[in-house]
Order: sequence, then C-alpha cells, then structure tokens
Amino acid sequence: MTRKSQNTTPVTADVDDSVGEIDHRLTRRALINNFRRGEVSRDTLCDAHPELLRVARNFGRSTRVKCPICVNDQLVTVSYVFGPRLPSHGRFIATRAEVEQFDLRPERFTAYLIEVCRTCSWHHLLKTRVLGGHGKSDKSAIAQ
Ligand SMILES: [Zn+2]
Repeated sequence: MTRKSQNTTPVTADVDDSVGEIDHRLTRRALINNFRRGEVSRDTLCDAHPELLRVARNFGRSTRVKCPICVNDQLVTVSYVFGPRLPSHGRFIATRAEVEQFDLRPERFTAYLIEVCRTCSWHHLLKTRVLGGHGKSDKSAIAQ
C-alpha cells in the first residue's frame, strides 16, 4: 500500500459521502497500458500476497470484470480496513454493513477496495476511503 496517493482533493465546506474517497482508476488504466505496451512485465503486476489470494479465493465478491492481464478469469474484490486497534496488516471486511459500522466510530479508519485475479494473481487498489473520525474538525488532515 505504498502507492503514491493524490492529495490534491480540494477541501470544501460540503460534507457528503464522496468526501475522503479516492478513486485509483487512472493509475489502473496507466498500469494496464504499460503492460500492453510491454513496458511492465506480468511478474511485476501479478504478485498478490498469498494471504490476499487466500482471502480473494474464499471470500472475494465476484464481479463481471474480466482480468485485464490474463483475460481468463473474472476479477473479485476484497475490502480491508486499517486503523486504531486493528492488526498492522489490516482487517478483512466481508460486508458493507461492517464498513458502515467503522464509519460511525469516532476514530479514523482507512478502507481499501482491492481487485484480485484468482488465476494470475493480478491485484490493484481500486478505491481508498476514509471512515469514521466524525465529530472532529481536522477532516483536511488525512493521515497517510
Ligand atoms: Zn488474471
């Protein structure tokens, strides 16, 4: 999770669901284009951690999206939450309801939505979302 994030989101007075959500689709597209042009090897892209693969195989939510790399399998998505009192490798989140529970807590958490190919081990971060931390006025100071 050390990919460079874009911290250029303008701070507005409006608070809605999209605040604190970062979409990584552009990075994804760039990576796939680099792969198709032969600038990035498959080994570099398809190196999902064994634990991530295990979770993806057992609990991943199926999508209709074909893997952009091997084009052999449908991608699945898994969600992880990182934050106070959670394991350093994050906690796997199975349901949307669990995500919403984190969002109600006073501490701040970060949720990651990751797509995984169970066949070739391609994995990519799709979305990052800040959860919780309500009742505090430091919404602009997003801890990385
Ligand atoms: Zn694949």
